[in-house]
Amino acid sequence: MPFLPITYASTSTKILSSWRTSKPVIDYTKCTRCAICWKFCPDVAIDLVVDSSLKSPNEKFSSLEAPSIDYDHCKGCGICETECPFGAIEMVREEE
Ligand code: SF4
Ligand code: SF4
Repeated sequence: MPFLPITYASTSTKILSSWRTSKPVIDYTKCTRCAICWKFCPDVAIDLVVDSSLKSPNEKFSSLEAPSIDYDHCKGCGICETECPFGAIEMVREEE
């Protein structure tokens, strides 16, 4: 993938979770593991992980790295929801 004008490392020294009013939630049954959310997250708050518990109905997707959101560093901007081409991310209002 080409480089993009984003940070190369997570804003790991800053906990951004208090900024959020909504948080992204991934529906792994819709996720094709395309990694577009990972590419577009401006805070590198999405990791790609191998986790057999993150099931996909499609066998060929189950063996691929799946996106996992680091909620400590996610600021809730919603870019991942906008960019996911498969509608697999939904921003859900944080509990008060
Ligand atoms: S962009 Fe959507 S379909 Fe692609 S890996 Fe992320 S959640 Fe899954
Ligand atoms: S809501 Fe924004 S900061 Fe959080 S994972 Fe999605 S793109 Fe990254």
